[in-house]
Formats: sequence, C-alpha cells, structure tokens
Amino acid sequence: MYSSDFSGALPAAGLVSGGKLFQAYIISGAGSGKTALANHLAARAVCSEGGQTPCGVCRDCRKAAAGLHPDIIFISPEAGEKGGASYPVKEIRRLCADAAVMPNEAKHKVYIITDASIMSEACQNVLLKTLEEPPKFTVFILLAENSANLLPTVRSRCTSLYTPDENAACSESTEKLASGLMSAVASGDRVALAEYLFSLEGISKQDAAELSDELLRRCAAGARENAAGKNCGIPSERLLKMAAVFEEIKTYCKFNVSSGHMIGLLMAELL
Ligand SMILES: [Zn+2]
Repeated sequence: MYSSDFSGALPAAGLVSGGKLFQAYIISGAGSGKTALANHLAARAVCSEGGQTPCGVCRDCRKAAAGLHPDIIFISPEAGEKGGASYPVKEIRRLCADAAVMPNEAKHKVYIITDASIMSEACQNVLLKTLEEPPKFTVFILLAENSANLLPTVRSRCTSLYTPDENAACSESTEKLASGLMSAVASGDRVALAEYLFSLEGISKQDAAELSDELLRRCAAGARENAAGKNCGIPSERLLKMAAVFEEIKTYCKFNVSSGHMIGLLMAELL
C-alpha cells in the first residue's frame, strides 16, 4: 500500500500528506526518494477516493501501483547518438498538446518528467507556457537532482519539495544553529526569531549551505511527526513554506550572494 510504504521511506513524505494537491511540483535533492515521492503524489492525484493520501485499494490506486495507469505518464530524456541524453523540443511540445486532452479514466492526468534539469532553455520555455495556464486536471511533477538548473520562471510556477540526503551528517555548530531556528519558529516569538536571524550575519556560504540542508531535513522530520499524529510544534503548511525558503538559500549559496541578502530573504519569509 502506498501510505505505509511511503511514510517510512521518504524524508519529505510528511510535507505533502495533509497539504493540498498542487498542479506543479519540483522534487529535487540528492535523496533517493524522488521517484517514490512522485509516485505517491501521482497515486494521490488519480485515486478515486480523493483523500489526502492514496487509498491504495481503489482501481486507480491499484493501476498506479502496478505502473499501468493511463493517466500517469512518465517522460524521460532521449539517449543521444554520441552518448548523453536530452529532451527534444518536439517531445515537450507533444507533451503540452497531450496535456490539453482530458484524462482517460481518472480525475487528474499526471506527467512525471524525470531528469527535468537537463531540459534545454527552449524546452523549459515551451513547458512554461503550459505551467502558466495549466488545464485544471493536470499535475506536473519535475524530478531534478538540482533544481537550480531549472529556469527561475519554471521554478516560480512549481511547489518545491526536497528530498535531502538522509545519510548526510552535519557539524555540531550547524546542529545548534538549526535547533535554534526551529525552536524560534515553533515559539512564535518574532523578536527571538529576528535575533536568531541577525546572529547569522557573516556566515560563510559553505556553512549556510550545510545549515540549509540540516533545516530541510528537520522540516521533513517535523512534517513526518505531524503526519504520524505527534505534533512537532510547527504546522506542516508552514514547514512546507520554510523548506521552499531553505532550498532557495541553498541555491543562493552557489552564487556570490552575501549573508546579508540571505538573512534578508529569511526575514521576509519567516517573520
Ligand atoms: Zn485509491
């Protein structure tokens, strides 16, 4: 069954159970759970029970589990003649034309685009037009090792879910910083949160990236606790928004962005 397989195995599982279904997702990160998470979302979108998790027993769920649902469509890059893989623009055009056609059986039609980050800019711009005005019944799920390779315009149309590398460890100082932020958010004390954010002034990009990773893991863990009925102190909806900000910070860390800018973004989003 989906729900039981899924909740234990996936770091970001809790981030989607309990929330509403969006029309476009990017699932990124080094975590191994990207495809499983995509399958879970897809099953939820087609499940005829219409709950917040796929029921696992209806005809649509059973077809989805067997990989046979006609309304769950996997798109993969084509292998090139000289090795390497890419998405031909005409393939993405075909996908977008297909997306305008009603689902075959379910109430939604789900497109799962694997390795979306290797799409050329031209491909992404074709897809963007559909993401901007998606037919009501479509759900797009883009899988990407690194979502920073996707155009900002595409990213802005999608809900970001992140599967952190579950096995990565972080330093003691990062752990302390992460605990500080999570408890400041949970306390609802804006002054404490502002003070905490100011204390990050001057943090190196490397430390900020490590901190973002740890915070993403904690958001996912918190959401898992919420989903299991143990209140982690922060609502899942909020955790989802926080995770999106932390992922943005991670992207910033790759560029020449000052800690001041990062703190500004955290202030704007968290306070
Ligand atoms: Zn079902």
